[in-house]
Amino acid sequence: MSLYRDEGIVLRTHKLGEADRIVTVLTRRTGKIRGVAKGVRRTMSRFGARLEPFTHVDLQLHTGRTLDVITQAETIRPYGEAFVADYPRYTAGSAMLETADRLIMAEKEPALRQFLLLVGGLRTLGSGEHEARLVLDAYFLRSLAVAGYAPALEECARCRTTSVRAFAIVAGGVVCGACRPAGAAVPAGETIALMVALLKGDWRSADASESRHRAECSGLVAAYLQWHLEHGIRSLRHVERERAERELAT
Ligand SMILES: [Zn+2]
Repeated sequence: MSLYRDEGIVLRTHKLGEADRIVTVLTRRTGKIRGVAKGVRRTMSRFGARLEPFTHVDLQLHTGRTLDVITQAETIRPYGEAFVADYPRYTAGSAMLETADRLIMAEKEPALRQFLLLVGGLRTLGSGEHEARLVLDAYFLRSLAVAGYAPALEECARCRTTSVRAFAIVAGGVVCGACRPAGAAVPAGETIALMVALLKGDWRSADASESRHRAECSGLVAAYLQWHLEHGIRSLRHVERERAERELAT
């Protein structure tokens, strides 16, 4: 068995047998890992408390035959503490953890940009500088972009013309009048501008946006994310897109 150290954000935990827990962590160097924390449910262990979701931990692990075993855990920063008394931040943070877990499907494949995005997102959320919904939508858009699913926002997803008028999830973002599939949403220009600002990290523009455009942005981003999580396997993605387009065309 070999020993290794890494730091990461705890994404989720679940029970294993009577006393153990399986802990899923997005780490800086190793990517997503699942490790067994032994004996953490038997007592009110401090070891177990460090392995709760949202916690940024420094870990030591033994490579196991099927699952690695977590032998040490030290808290770097307990991001969850900032969310406990703030329900909108707690739910936004939970959605970030779940999205990271689902977008990063492979284990032990380095995903440094996703790790940095998640740490940055949790830190910004905890700081209270921006509305929780904006922080979450920025995280969704950027993590999708890192995963290779950035929505087209400034030119038609199909023909690249810049005079766009609708947003079509199956087409991959904004589309022009000629390329627009049936059923495409027609959001306000300000809503698309807000999505651009969030993707680029332009907080000055994002913080100045109006509530109705934030609501419209959240709806579009959530639908776009959901579609990509359900069709997330790259090889299937194009097949599903064609099928969806055929269904919309009939
Ligand atoms: Zn077009």
